[in-house]
Amino acid sequence: MDTAVQCRLSAHGEGEHFGLLTDNGAYGTALWLRWHGAGEAELVVLPDCPVAAPGPDGDGCCLFVDHAQQHTWEDTPEEVPCTS
Ligand SMILES: [Zn+2]
Ligand SMILES: [Zn+2]
Repeated sequence: MDTAVQCRLSAHGEGEHFGLLTDNGAYGTALWLRWHGAGEAELVVLPDCPVAAPGPDGDGCCLFVDHAQQHTWEDTPEEVPCTS
């Protein structure tokens, strides 16, 4: 797999990793690389996560729809990014 791509999720003990390849896909979608452990990575096109932070100027989430873990705007100082 392309080791230049890092998982965008918060630290998670198991499950699949998702690295963002490009968000220049069709409107509202992005191209992600999905892999599990040391297995083969797979290209997937996923719709953007529609959940924005509360408030009129709330940040949008940088992940994909139905992702596990927190939304990117929920980042807390204690949060540890996934290192895969
Ligand atoms: Zn991960
Ligand atoms: Zn989200």
